[in-house]
Amino acid sequence: MLDDELRELYQDVILDHQQDPRNFGPMQHPTHHAEGFNPLCGDRIRLELDMDGDRIRQVSFTGAGCAISTASASLMTEALTGKTRAEAEAVSQDFRDLVTGRLRDTEDGETAETSRLGKLYVLAGVQQFPVRVKCATLAWHTLAAALNEEKPEPVTTE
Ligand code: ZN
Repeated sequence: MLDDELRELYQDVILDHQQDPRNFGPMQHPTHHAEGFNPLCGDRIRLELDMDGDRIRQVSFTGAGCAISTASASLMTEALTGKTRAEAEAVSQDFRDLVTGRLRDTEDGETAETSRLGKLYVLAGVQQFPVRVKCATLAWHTLAAALNEEKPEPVTTE
């Protein structure tokens, strides 16, 4: 269980990212993109990546959603900038394990996995709210779709 002080700190970070999302806005020349929708809550996201070979040079998002989906997307863009595809996929797996309650700090404090999550750990609280898990993971599902998009968007002359 999180103690109250920690919970408040987490809520502050989530609120901050909701009100002032990082890397929010369309990118000029994304190499990869995907769109995601969470019908349970109505959250929509469009994620754009600028990949330099295997490395994520830049990531940005647009869309509209609840506080949790927006904060999760915003924190995700910060966490992924500069990461390789494999590193991004590892963080993504850890994050999904976190919000579904499979990953948590032990009584001794952080584990290797929870410390690797860094600031993303503020979303640990959603594991107590199953409906919110989909809000928190929307950006990450969309990331997987974007990373698996093999080609950049085709150019059209029409
Ligand atoms: Zn939501």
